[in-house]
Amino acid sequence: MKENKRLPDKTVERLSQYRRNLLTCVANGKTHIFSHEIANLLHITSVQVRRDIMLIGYSGTLRKGYDVQELIDLIGEIIDSQFGQRVAVIGVGNLGRALVSYFKGKRSKLLIVAAFDTNAEKVDRVYAGVHCYHYDQMAEIIKKENISIGIITVPASEAAKVAENLVISGIKGILNFTPSPVNVSPHVFLEEYDMITSLEKVAYFVKKNDM
Ligand code: ATP
Repeated sequence: MKENKRLPDKTVERLSQYRRNLLTCVANGKTHIFSHEIANLLHITSVQVRRDIMLIGYSGTLRKGYDVQELIDLIGEIIDSQFGQRVAVIGVGNLGRALVSYFKGKRSKLLIVAAFDTNAEKVDRVYAGVHCYHYDQMAEIIKKENISIGIITVPASEAAKVAENLVISGIKGILNFTPSPVNVSPHVFLEEYDMITSLEKVAYFVKKNDM
């Protein structure tokens, strides 16, 4: 695949899911896998799997399918940055702390290296190995620590302000975990994940199925 070609964001999401499942296959001693097996693991069609994998310029063999390790390596080359990317969490409340702890050691190419908060009791504390700085130091630390991704876990009412500040501080991508959508300039990649909406959606369908 050409370096400068951008993949559709749903494809990137699926590549990340493929890799996670392929790593489990490796751990179980599986060396080759067919598209329909990957499809079954992710509850999608094998046509979709083949299309995604063709998009990254890989093909398996008819007899054995895809080489699991080769596919893992290729997905890594495409979605990981060669020298890794550094991440900051803004707001170390319950959610921010959970994320920092959960993410620790999960991805070698994606490191949470700083946290920011306005609460004096949290500033200068270390959460799961991550130092919490005062929010006012954000621009300075983002530059100094070469941080390119920000995760927003402040209260919803603060989200817009924090996003704006992150953009001004030179951040390249934002994952907004608050239920309040934010605006960013077009050169910043924004992903929003509202857990409450997701849970309410599940609850709605559970209710419907019970009726
Ligand atoms: P806790 O009880 O530990 O504060 P919480 O999950 O109830 O946790 P929230 O009210 O959701 O906390 O706030 C999340 C975190 O965001 C808190 O640590 C709060 O101090 C911090 N925070 C609030 N406003 C900002 C801001 N503008 N910039 C950075 N951090 C902020």
